[in-house]
This record gives sequence, structure tokens and C-alpha cells, in this order.
Amino acid sequence: MWGCKTPKGVTYTASGFYLDTFVEVTLYGCGSQKIANKAVDMCKYYQNIFNFRDESSTLAKLNQSGSMRVATEEDEALAGLVSIGLDYGKRTDYSLNIALGPATVQWDFINKTVPDKSEIESALKNVTPDKILVSNSRVELNGNKIDLGAVAKGYIADKIKEYLVEEGVDSAIINLGGNILCVGQKTDNKKFKIAVQQPFGRGNEVAFSLGIDDMSVVTSGVYERYFYRDDILYHHILDPDTGYPCDNGLWSVTIISSKSVDGDCLCTGCFVMGLDRAVKLIDSMEDVYAIFIDDNSNIIYSAGAEAFVN
Ligand code: AMP
Ligand code: MG
Repeated sequence: MWGCKTPKGVTYTASGFYLDTFVEVTLYGCGSQKIANKAVDMCKYYQNIFNFRDESSTLAKLNQSGSMRVATEEDEALAGLVSIGLDYGKRTDYSLNIALGPATVQWDFINKTVPDKSEIESALKNVTPDKILVSNSRVELNGNKIDLGAVAKGYIADKIKEYLVEEGVDSAIINLGGNILCVGQKTDNKKFKIAVQQPFGRGNEVAFSLGIDDMSVVTSGVYERYFYRDDILYHHILDPDTGYPCDNGLWSVTIISSKSVDGDCLCTGCFVMGLDRAVKLIDSMEDVYAIFIDDNSNIIYSAGAEAFVN
């Protein structure tokens, strides 16, 4: 490759714990350790914008004040992602609902507590995403509090890919806690092999693996954050109508798409929509594919998705 000084077979990997998860960027073709490190550092930059649980983040400040003038690059990133989240909210009948912040904060998957019903009910009163206004210069929440946990990793993965491509990287995997975005192909001209976990499987049991070129693979699953109380499974993907974990017979949804933010928004949205409605939505979209695992470990494919399995 012109301008590429990386010796054949050399890879550069950087990793860290950001966005509440393990992140890793591996460069296979052109690149350098410095580029890999900078890619991972971008997670820290965006975490300081999007993490609504950190009081000093740009989002936490917006949630607190209720409105924001878009003045800095950080504000622009925040306004941009809020706008994308609202757009996918509309497309999924608000199954993806970034205004669920008051309900999601009630659920504590570290101390494993089930919130009081009254707390959940009062949290839902202030969930009105259609009242959020975003323009180039302002964001107005009009009583809402935003949680971007369902959409941020995809957005950040896309930004990292943009950076890598600008730097001339032609083959890489960006892994943000299982939210995968591939850059180009593997150097041996084979597809990247992306394994998707068997929900509640033993160790690293694989449900299926996919052959991927230059695309994103994002999975939302009940097994990512959950606990049992009185034999009831409580997990982190909430039904916006009830404020309780979505209970619709699905264990996970995997989305294959070009942009990772599309995959991240859609996999959470499709999970909440349930199998039938989600398949219709995905089949109506171009170049987006979904693979579902239900609570009997059945695997269900949207049109064309099975072709990626290898
Ligand atoms: P993901 O892992 O991308 O499916 O995102 C799950 C995270 O998004 C949760 O941990 C919550 O912070 C938040 N969340 C839960 N339910 C929803 C929902 N229905 N719409 C939007 N965000 C949600
Ligand atoms: Mg998501």
C-alpha cells in the first residue's frame, strides 16, 4: 500500500475501560501504535460528553439545566447524537426512547434492586421525547432527561472509524464492549469473523459467527446487564410504556449495518419492538440486517441476514 510502512503481519492494539465496558482497537494493515492509542483515547473524550451518570459530563449538565446553547465541539456532538436518537425514536414508535433517563436511573444492576412501582410510574410522567427540540444552535429538553446509553457506543465507533480512515488505516476492528465496527477487510483478503455470544451460554459459547467486510455488528441482549429476584429476570432494556424490563420472548438482537450508530439505535429499538414488528422494519430498510435469538435459543433472520453467517 502506498505510504504504508507497517511490516506485514504486524498489528497494533490499544485497549481500556471506558463507556462502562472494555474497549479495544486493533489495526491489522497500515497504522501505528500511536494511532491505535489515540483511537482508544477518543472513548474518553466522548464518555465525558455522553455519560449522563457522570455529573460533570456535557449531557449531565444539559439534563440539569434543561436547555443548552450549542457553543463548543462537545455541544455539537451532543446535539448531533440527540437528534439521531430522536430520529430513530420516531422510526421505532419510540421503542427506542432516549428520554427514558428518569426510568433507567431507577434500575441499579450493581446493587440489584427492583425500584418501587410508584417511583417508576412517576418517572414515566416526564418522558415526552416529542417535546425535545434540537436545532443547530440550541437543545431544549422541555422537562425530559436524556440517557444516551442505547446509542452512544455506535456513534463513537463511527467517529473512531472516521479518524482511522483519515490516518490511512485500511484494516482494523473497533470493539466497544461487543459493539463491533470493521474497517476494510482482513489483510489476507478474508472477511473479519465476528462471533455473537450465546445468551446465558457457558464461558464464551458462540451462538453464531458472521463474515464481515467494512460493516458494523451490534448486539443488544438481556444477558448484558441483569439480575434475578424471586425467580424473575430483570434486565437493562426497558419497555418505555411500563418502565420495566421488556418481556417479549427475545434474548438478543444483532444488527448488521454500515454505520454503527444505526446498528446501535436499531438493535435496542428492535429489541423493544419485538420480533414481528422489528422484522418488518428491518426488511423495509436497505442494507440493514437483523438476527434475533429468542428465549428458546431459536435463531431468526431478517431477509438476507443468513448470508453473513459463516
Ligand atoms: P443497548 O445496550 O444499546 O441496548 O442499550 C441499553 C441501555 O440503553 C440501557 O442500559 C439503558 O441505559 C438505555 N435504555 C434502556 N431501555 C431503553 C429504551 N427502550 N430506549 C432507549 N434507551 C434505553
Ligand atoms: Mg443500542
